[in-house]
Amino acid sequence: MRLDHRAILQNIRNFVVDLDGVVYLLHTPIRENIDFLRFARLRGFRIAFLSNNTFLPREGYAAKLNTMGVEAGVEEIFTSAFVTAGYLQREKPGGRVYAIGEEGLKEELRRAGLKLLPRFSSRGVDFVVVGLDRRFTFQKMKTGLDFLLKGAQLVGTNPDPTYPTDSGVIPGAGAIIASLERASGQRARIIGKPSPDILLFLLETLRFRREETAVIGDRIDTDVLLGKNCGVLTILVLTGVAKREEVLSSPVQPDIVVHTLQELREFL
Ligand SMILES: [Mg+2]
Repeated sequence: MRLDHRAILQNIRNFVVDLDGVVYLLHTPIRENIDFLRFARLRGFRIAFLSNNTFLPREGYAAKLNTMGVEAGVEEIFTSAFVTAGYLQREKPGGRVYAIGEEGLKEELRRAGLKLLPRFSSRGVDFVVVGLDRRFTFQKMKTGLDFLLKGAQLVGTNPDPTYPTDSGVIPGAGAIIASLERASGQRARIIGKPSPDILLFLLETLRFRREETAVIGDRIDTDVLLGKNCGVLTILVLTGVAKREEVLSSPVQPDIVVHTLQELREFL
């Protein structure tokens, strides 16, 4: 089994690393995993960070990582908001968007060159983009529905049903997206994990080759499934959501399971 790991990792040159549950738990750094990332960089591995989270723009996550002693450039950070904006701008440059979400999402959409519309617009929009919004209201749902009924496409940043916070679990982007799907009868196009779109965008942007890349995450239903959906090696680390028992009973099996990333050091 251990020798197996060396063989499995033999061609790997790049790690795509999830944030929450791998690098930190909310605000608490996970030291063992961070030490491994530092080691991997010294050994010449390329590292990128991939999160479904949309609260902050990319610099926000880069700053948070650097504060925790994790070297990370803005160009190495991929959030579902950033990738959603990238795809929409590519498909409809300067397209018109009604966004339900927080500043991290709106900022990425604006930066990509898309036009954010306020609540009232007689002209309609190309996309209704939905992420986690802690100020979501009936009025926003109604405005989104109006645009969808006029022909806009429904796009979701990520399908997460809930989101963990210091004060407990709150409804996630997936719950808000579901309300608009239900009202409009339109299925949302989802960009975030486990949709392959988000990882394919990262691989293409950084020129990471699939066969040289491994996804590292703490969830089977998002991180591991994402890797499987893209034909990329998957490493599950048990420092976050997934526990050993869940792995044993899961139909989706990671290529490698470790308690902390330190266990990988000897195989690089
Ligand atoms: Mg995670």
